[in-house]
This record gives sequence, C-alpha cells and structure tokens, in this order.
Amino acid sequence: MYYLKNIEDWEMIEKPIYYAVGGAFHTGKELIRKEMPLPEAIAEATKVFDDDIDSRALVAAMLSEWYKASRQFYQDYEIVDVEMKIELPLAEYEGGEIYFAGMADALLKDKNGRLFVGESKTTSDSVDRFCSKLWAQRQGLLYVWALRRLGYDVVGIIYDVTKKATIKRGMATPMEKRKYKKDGETLYAGQREHDESYSEYLSRLKQWYQSKPESFAQEVIVHSKQQLDAIENDMSNILKALVFYQATDNWPRSLSSCYAYNRACEFAHYCSAGNDELILQSLYKKRDRVFSKLINKGETDEFNTN
Ligand code: SF4
Repeated sequence: MYYLKNIEDWEMIEKPIYYAVGGAFHTGKELIRKEMPLPEAIAEATKVFDDDIDSRALVAAMLSEWYKASRQFYQDYEIVDVEMKIELPLAEYEGGEIYFAGMADALLKDKNGRLFVGESKTTSDSVDRFCSKLWAQRQGLLYVWALRRLGYDVVGIIYDVTKKATIKRGMATPMEKRKYKKDGETLYAGQREHDESYSEYLSRLKQWYQSKPESFAQEVIVHSKQQLDAIENDMSNILKALVFYQATDNWPRSLSSCYAYNRACEFAHYCSAGNDELILQSLYKKRDRVFSKLINKGETDEFNTN
C-alpha cells in the first residue's frame, strides 16, 4: 500500500461512497471551525453530491446534529489552528529522504493552556466500541509525537467521533411487489408509493440522531512519555524497513491489512487481480499530493539510518 500510494502516487478514480461521506463531513467541520455559518458550511460541504440525495441528506444531518451536540464541549477550547500540516524530516538514504507528513484536523488549547491535536473520526460501529480502541490509534500517537518533535508542547489528542446513521432513505416499492389493502388504494405498511424526498429523509435522520445522543463523543487522550517513546521506537523500525524495501525495490504485501477496519483496502481490486496492469490503468489514477515527496529542510539525528 505504501509503495502504490506514496511512491507511485496511485489512487482510485471512483472512491467508495463511505470515503465521500467522511470527506464531506470533514470539510463541513473544517468550515464551521473557520467560523462559516452552519447553513453555508452544510451547503458548501454537500455540493459534491449533486443528485445523490442519500449522501447529501446524511452529511447535512451529521453536520447539524454534530454542531448542536458538540458545541458545549468546545466552549472550553480555543481553536489555535485548522487543517495543520505536519512535516517532519526522518531519514536520509542513498538517493532520497523520508519525511513524516500528515494533516491534523485542528490544534486546540484548553483552559489550562494545554495543547491537543483535534482529530475527527466517523464510524459505523458503536461509538463506545470505537472509542475503546483509540488509545492505540497509531495515527494520533504519531501526530502528537511529530508535533512534539517540531517544538509544539502537545500533550495529547481529542478524538471527535461521530457515528454514521444506519437508517436508509425509503424508496418506492417496485410495482410488481406492491400489495394494497381491501380499499384497493392503501399500500400495506412498509410499502411506499414514492421515494422519500430529501427533506423527509433529512428530517428522519435528524430525529434518529436526536434519539441517539450517544452517536457523538469527544474522547480526550493524554499520551504518557512511555507511549510516545514506544511509538518513536516503532517508527524507527518502520523506517528501517522502508529504506530496505526501497533500496531493494521489494515491497512485501501486508495481507492482514487488505480488509482492516471491515473495509477493503483501496488497492484490493489491483492486488486480488494479481497486480494486473489493465486493472491499474482503468481503476486508478495518479493523485495530486498535498505534500511534496522530498523536502530539503534540515537534518535529522536519531533517524539517520545510513
Ligand atoms: S490489498 Fe492488501 S496487499 Fe494490496 S496494497 Fe492493500 S493491503 Fe497491501
């Protein structure tokens, strides 16, 4: 995955819909944090969906209910930065350098002046179960570790978790399956004459969220020095492996990751077809990178793996 995504820059042309929903929700939260009024932020974030009423209503409901549910929590935090780029030089090897690069959703300061990374997550799982795994979330640990290495006195991370609503838009019952009551006009319960409209579905989604306040949570995690030392050690080992794979141009597959988090890896089509070049050319395209691959700005000490 690292090779295909970060060295060769491939990405899927048509991303699965859960990426689009997560991405639009994320965009909306970013705009709200930048103080755009809620209705405008919703309109801006959901315009990617065009005629996709299901996704547009879902993201609109998620944003408006998240805003109501989380406003009080964030009253105790100052937003220091939004969409904060993290770039940390890590290793040099013959022919190149490796940088840690990421984008923190936000940098937040609490009333005691402590800094936290703010990170948004959406899940189809229960929020409780999702939150119970967050202490070991590698991305969060790495963001905190990298920012500390860059001189920010970050103490931990606040995960802002939102469950995706599980109700679907009601669709008209196919003609051949419709069953009417004795009057010959009234459909049986559960059957529909017409598709549910955008506003009907949106209203039902909002009610769903209001009846399930546990769909939103903010999990504050303060990382200990031992946890950050351990992730630094992990990173050092990963780096050595990356430099070795690159030097030998040999990228072992990680079959335990192909269906991690109950979803297929972006490259599952390609790998399952035995790395078929035709599949690569027809389903994937070269992506625009947020970060340049090699940025010459300073040297590292511990991570020089030469
Ligand atoms: S499908 Fe599996 S082997 Fe292929 S890139 Fe993804 S994780 Fe690696």
